[in-house]
Amino acid sequence: MSELVLSGVTKSFGGAEVIKGVDLAIEKGEFVVFVGPSGCGKSTLLRMIAGLESVSGGTIAIGGRAVTDAEPWDRGIAMVFQSYALYPHMTVAENMGFALRLQGVPPAERRKAVEQAARILQIEPLLDRKPAQLSGGQRQRVAIGRAIVRQPRVFLFDEPLSNLDAELRVQTRIEIARLHRQLGATMIYVTHDQVEAMTLADRIVVLRGGRIEQVGRPTDLYDDPDNAFVAGFIGSPK
Ligand code: ADP
Ligand code: MG
Repeated sequence: MSELVLSGVTKSFGGAEVIKGVDLAIEKGEFVVFVGPSGCGKSTLLRMIAGLESVSGGTIAIGGRAVTDAEPWDRGIAMVFQSYALYPHMTVAENMGFALRLQGVPPAERRKAVEQAARILQIEPLLDRKPAQLSGGQRQRVAIGRAIVRQPRVFLFDEPLSNLDAELRVQTRIEIARLHRQLGATMIYVTHDQVEAMTLADRIVVLRGGRIEQVGRPTDLYDDPDNAFVAGFIGSPK
């Protein structure tokens, strides 16, 4: 059974259909990258999986359960945003434990989960700081830590590195790859960066105008793109 299944998913804003029928099954532990030009619908698709955007048509199932209309907190997902979206008045530890607090997890247990995630990301010395006292790279680690604490079935990343400078982008990318191996988690990662897609993905989904243009392993897309659009996007010489 696939971990995440999208069946005939569509989305319209006003009269305009921006997601035009997406069918996709993602297996447990897979790292899947959505790529495509600006405006092709990457974020909208991810936000529908997260429950931050309703679907206009079709269904979404996670872990064998229909979640098409479920609340975001009730889907077994955690999302990491490009903007980090940390609460400025809370410490790092409070930010990371906030979702557990909402779920009524007792403080001691929360603290344990936060410390464990902090250890994985090597941000233990930052736990008592406020977001304003962190660098961009540290904030992004906290945002990733907050996702880990929730132990989601599926991690969703929307261009998580795009606000970081080049060196930090590489470091954080390597960190995310390590996390994927260490946690064995299912991850969906949106980017418009070819290098990120080629290095991180088990499979790449190339989107164009709200449709899937091609899906495949990075090497397969590179060696055998279906068309010039995919070739251009993957950086294939074909
Ligand atoms: P991407 O992340 O690939 O750049 P988006 O998913 O953000 O693309 O956007 C896909 C299309 O949907 C774009 O044409 C965008 O303008 C439109 N869109 C996204 N969100 C909204 C919204 N809340 N209201 C109206 N149109 C939207
Ligand atoms: Mg986007």
